[in-house]
Order: sequence, then structure tokens, then C-alpha cells
Amino acid sequence: MEIKNVIVYGAGTMGSGIVQICGVHGFNVTMVDIKQEFVDNGMAAIKKGLARLVRKEKIDQATADEILGRISPSVERAYDADIVIEAIIEDEDVKKELFADLDKNCPDHTILASNTSSIPITNIASATNRPDKVIGMHFMNPVPIMKGVEIIRGKETSDETYGIVDRMSKDLGKIPGVSNDFPGFIANRILMPYINEGAWALSEGVSDPENIDLIAKKCLNMVMGPLELGDLIGLDICLAIMNVMHDGFKNEKFAPCPKIKDLVDAGHLGRKTGKGFYDYS
Ligand code: NAD
Repeated sequence: MEIKNVIVYGAGTMGSGIVQICGVHGFNVTMVDIKQEFVDNGMAAIKKGLARLVRKEKIDQATADEILGRISPSVERAYDADIVIEAIIEDEDVKKELFADLDKNCPDHTILASNTSSIPITNIASATNRPDKVIGMHFMNPVPIMKGVEIIRGKETSDETYGIVDRMSKDLGKIPGVSNDFPGFIANRILMPYINEGAWALSEGVSDPENIDLIAKKCLNMVMGPLELGDLIGLDICLAIMNVMHDGFKNEKFAPCPKIKDLVDAGHLGRKTGKGFYDYS
């Protein structure tokens, strides 16, 4: 099957980035969110991303306009696509409700992909009657820049579905790697302990955020320090991922540091709210 029409659910950090690259690579794409304000914010992020490409002379203005012409924002649920890529909140029950509805209303051939960071694909697929067509397509943040994408095969994901999504990832200019279906998959199983340990170092008084991140970058050659990376991803997302791994593996090594929960409870989610481990105001 050739993918032509895509629907992306969620117009936030990840959804808007996924919509942008789909548009850039020639797919027709509908972006769905629950409120006009969220859809507008997503479109603003996409326009900003395309303006950056024009400024860098990677595309001209006419091409940017053509790309925008392929993108349809919507606050109504949409179903008519070859693939749906879900990028809504990291909550298993909310994702399952959406997947059950998509399964009921999408054409039989539609592949249902989730951009979940941590929730086992098999659990999400259990809400549908097409588990062979459910797959994880875990993009990295910021989507237009990061090269890799983690493809997760649920217990019943078919070879055909995997082949189509692997092909589409390459058509989107990404390099796909594959993971079996465990909480957190590969990327976050490695990344979250890094961010969590940074939070423990801060809360135990080992040092301040600047020095923790500096040591990680300049001594360990990491591209970003654990705390600035947590702020970029969103501390609510990090906490949700850590909880999924903690519950899923029943292993204390994945328990989130209370400092992260305290920041989330206070509404300090990182860059997106202007405050997290750092103050961006
Ligand atoms: P976000 O909070 O920026 O955006 C989520 C959007 O989904 C919001 O605009 C919200 O209104 C919308 N939404 C919620 N329920 C919806 C529904 N039923 N239908 C349509 N829209 C709905 O979150 P995000 O950072 O973009 O994360 C989205 C998903 O991607 C999560 O599963 C997350 O774990 C995953 N992810 C996040 C990152 C990251 O760095 N932030 C990286 C990889 C994967």
C-alpha cells in the first residue's frame, strides 16, 4: 500500500512537528486537536518551522505555501486516511479511547500508529479489532531536526504494517530503528534514567542545574545536559514515561525523583510553561 493521506492527532510539540515533515515530504495531512486554540498554536509552530527553512534557503516561499496547502487543521475527529499517527497526551486510557474510535470509523486498510514514548503498543492495540495494523512510530523532539525514529512492533503487528511504516519513515527523511514492545522501548529506557539521575543530583545538592548540565556536556560529551533536556521534552511527559516504566517493570530503579513530581505539581513543566529546572521568563 502506498501512503498518501495522513491524519495526525495532537497539535502539540510532537504533533505539529510530525505534520510539518509530512507536509514537507509531499503527504496530504490533517492535524486534529480538541480545541481551536491548540490547532492554531500547532499551525503557528509549523509556519515558524517553514519560515526557518525559507530563511536557510532550503525551500523557497512558493514551496512553503504549497506545503501549507497540503495541511488541513481540524477540531473535528477525522478518519479518512491511509495512516493515522497519534501524538496526544501520554495517558493509556485516553489513547485507548481514541484508538477504539479510530478502529470503528477508519477504513479497513488504515494503519494506526502511536507516537507514545513509553506505553506498550500491544496495550493500545487491545482497544482495536486490528492489532495487526497498530504500530509504534516514536519520533524524537524536535521532529524536523532529529534523524532517528523508533519503530515499535506490538505482539500482533504484521510484517506488512511494519514494512509500510519503515518505508514511510525513510520517505520522511528519517532513519528508522526497531524495538520490541517493552515499557519505554529503547530510547526512553536509556534516556529517562539520565534525566532522573540529573534530578536526583540536583535535589541531593550535588550541584546546581548549570553545573550538572555543563559536566554532562563538556566532560561526558552529551549534546544536552539531563536537566535542560528534561525541560525541553516537558517534565509532565518525563514523569508520565517514568511512571509507565516504574509500573511496567516493577523495578525501583525507574522510580521518578520527587523533584520532578514537585515541579509538575506546581505547573512548572519546562520550556513550554516558561519554568522547569530553569527559569525561561
Ligand atoms: P503536548 O502536550 O505538547 O501535545 C499534546 C496535544 O494533544 C495537546 O495539544 C492536546 O490538546 C492534544 N490532545 C489531547 N487529547 C486529544 C484527543 N483526544 N484528540 C486530539 N488531540 C488531543 O504533548 P507532546 O509533547 O506533543 O507529546 C505527545 C505524545 O508524543 C505523547 O505520547 C508523548 O509521550 C510523545 N512524545 C513526546 C516527546 C517530547 O519530547 N515531548 C518525544 C517523543 C514522543
